[in-house]
Amino acid sequence: MVRGHAKSVAQQKNQKKAEERRKAGSKNTGDDKNTKRALTCKICFASVIGEKALKEHFAAKHIGKELKLGDYGLG
Ligand SMILES: [Zn+2]
Repeated sequence: MVRGHAKSVAQQKNQKKAEERRKAGSKNTGDDKNTKRALTCKICFASVIGEKALKEHFAAKHIGKELKLGDYGLG
């Protein structure tokens, strides 16, 4: 479980970096802000692009699990 936690921390760091970059270039992203964002599933660490893909991923792979959008900086 420790290994998983370390991975999660590293991913949070990456996510923070991505967010900073997104904020810096917010002029270009506009209404596209959440639709093309790279996200990593907190359960299986699969990479998906955008909130919609994440929801579809949960529906397909994690049936019955609660998708907490806040964990992904969404919602
Ligand atoms: Zn997953």
